[in-house]
Amino acid sequence: MMKGNTGQGLAGSKPKQVDKEKWRDWKWQMRHCVKDLESFEKFLGIELGTEERRAFEETVSRFPMSITPYYLSLIDKNNLNNDPIFMQSFPRQQELEIHSSDMSDPLHEDADSPAPCITHRYPDRVLFLVSNTCSMYCRHCTRKRRVGDRDSIPDRETILQGIEYIKATPQIRDVLLSGGDPFLLSDEYLDWILTELQKIPHVEVIRIGTRTPVVLPYRITDELVAMLKKHHPIWINTHFNHPRELTSTSRRALAKLADAGIPLGNQSVLLAGVNDCPRIMRVLVHKLVANRVRPYYLYQCDLSEGLSHFRTPVGKGIEILESLIGHTSGFCVPTYVIDAPGGGGKIPVMPNYLISWSTNKVVLRNYEGVITTYREPDSYEPTVCDRNCDACNLQLDLADAQESELIGVEMLLADDDESISLVPQGNERYNRRTVDDENPENSNS
Ligand SMILES: *Cc1c(COP(=O)(O)O)cnc(C)c1O
Repeated sequence: MMKGNTGQGLAGSKPKQVDKEKWRDWKWQMRHCVKDLESFEKFLGIELGTEERRAFEETVSRFPMSITPYYLSLIDKNNLNNDPIFMQSFPRQQELEIHSSDMSDPLHEDADSPAPCITHRYPDRVLFLVSNTCSMYCRHCTRKRRVGDRDSIPDRETILQGIEYIKATPQIRDVLLSGGDPFLLSDEYLDWILTELQKIPHVEVIRIGTRTPVVLPYRITDELVAMLKKHHPIWINTHFNHPRELTSTSRRALAKLADAGIPLGNQSVLLAGVNDCPRIMRVLVHKLVANRVRPYYLYQCDLSEGLSHFRTPVGKGIEILESLIGHTSGFCVPTYVIDAPGGGGKIPVMPNYLISWSTNKVVLRNYEGVITTYREPDSYEPTVCDRNCDACNLQLDLADAQESELIGVEMLLADDDESISLVPQGNERYNRRTVDDENPENSNS
């Protein structure tokens, strides 16, 4: 199993001196991950000053460093401080500036965990953290609290407990493998997990989140791809943040996955100083789709501790979407999301296109600033929905219609639900009440 090879460093082997075959072996890359300053300096042929060294040591004592030789080789050493590869991989002292609104686990992943390695947040899908190890420690990691935890890969016993939970929860139709990086498991171990998951009748689709096409593209071997192909439908999301990360090597890795019939998506994080620029994002999404990768999410940087120097205002993300929507192909536009602190899940955010509204007209604006109207029908025969689909003229095959409880705003919109408001529970205003207005029969006075 892949164990970090702490401290060994590159032992004087700069890229040019390493034989090509070794360089392209992902296990060699893993064994030679750069984890200390001396190896870093030797690799790039640079020397940092005393103050920089001190800051480095102080930072890694809290948040360790690991960079694959491949990813390190993409750094432009002549422009270190503006280099997007450097900024994503090299520790900076600002990581130690913890702000009062920062949280160790802002997404409450640990609190929403009904079984080991599982976060069950949404009704029909779960996050399954099958690996606690990464080849490169992204400085902007949302799970920074766990980075560098040494016991890296959950054993079969632990994984089985997660699988048991999924088995016992028939609502789960989508399992999202993440970590750490699931592709740091051996082919055999991953094959076993996928096989076990596929035995579960209600699991319809498996997704894998991996950054290996970006930081360790040699991991995408023919053997891995052949193994994945046995387990379709498999979807993969990767994590490119900057156009510079799309090299000929990473393109080849993406092509292998796409050729195996795996739909590819990309999740970027909006990072100050790295990609907080509409032009950079436009180049990135164009390069992605040219390589058969669909931009899926653009994340607002989370409130995890140690990320404050990477955060942008939300307006920057909206500005980027404004420059994409309409200006370029629809499938180049990711959904911009804020993952709600406290575990509310991803909330999409967009520029506003609906300007005003009357009883029979809406006023809209387009990306060029054209203001237009859409005339609504004067009469519309609403089908009142009592959820009796047998009697409805819309043809829904009831075998496909999984019934579930109405949740949230969807419930407020439904014809067959009488709720008139959604209220947070237990706030002072509600505690003062003696009768529950909405449901008088539920009075808890
Ligand atoms: C992001 C996420 C998912 C998947 O969300 P989608 O919007 O379906 O991609 C599932 N569970 C958790 C906990 C997540 O954070």
